[in-house]
Amino acid sequence: TIRIEHVTKRFGQLEVLSDIDFTIEKGEFAAIVGPSGCGKSTVLRMIAGLETASDGKVLANGNPIGKPDPQRVLIFQEHALYPWRTVEENVGFGLELAKVPAKERRERVGEVLDKVGLSGFQNYYPAQLSGGMKQRASIARALVMNPEVLLLDEPYGALDAITRLTMQNELIKLWRGSGKTVLLITHDIDEAVYLADTIYVMSPRPGRIISKVHADMPRPRNRNSA
Ligand code: ATP
Ligand code: MG
Repeated sequence: TIRIEHVTKRFGQLEVLSDIDFTIEKGEFAAIVGPSGCGKSTVLRMIAGLETASDGKVLANGNPIGKPDPQRVLIFQEHALYPWRTVEENVGFGLELAKVPAKERRERVGEVLDKVGLSGFQNYYPAQLSGGMKQRASIARALVMNPEVLLLDEPYGALDAITRLTMQNELIKLWRGSGKTVLLITHDIDEAVYLADTIYVMSPRPGRIISKVHADMPRPRNRNSA
């Protein structure tokens, strides 16, 4: 459970977030939509432990979020793969930092590359991949750590409609039944309605939550019956 408790965020004099308050339950798929600059990425960065609140609390399972934790991974707006590392080295980087032995690393990387449809591309460099493939590689890099919470900052922004739909459906498949908590940021309300259980709408600066919507309409996935 992720709890954002009356959080205000200021950068110097500028109040960016004003009294944000919401809870995402374990296993829930939530989305935040709102205009550019309203503070969406800032919310995500606080949950990831990359930014601290000026006022209020950011809690994971009741504990204050301190520093970044591999249990909560953030997939950035600009999916930043290291250009000088192959797909396998990029995806395995977190495991390498966690000192997972090379053999197990290769196995786990192989499994997630399979999941995101990139098996066979281990030895490619990011520059040799299409935009969608890069996005899938950065999703693989997060999944390989088996996080409880996935934080996605506009992961599909730059994709064409067909690739985006494919990736959205892949995300649903990965998420369904996994018990993972997902928080997705998007400009695209249709995308939020398609993917999320709960949608938070933010106002322009200073960012506030102005509405909470339950998207409990029939969708191509249903985690209770599937
Ligand atoms: P977009 O949809 O364009 O990605 P966003 O909703 O993600 O926008 P944020 O990146 O969270 O917006 O930024 C919100 C505001 O906070 C902006 O006005 C931005 O200039 C400001 N801001 C973000 N990070 C910093 C920082 N490190 N220092 C100062 N100001 C910042
Ligand atoms: Mg942003």
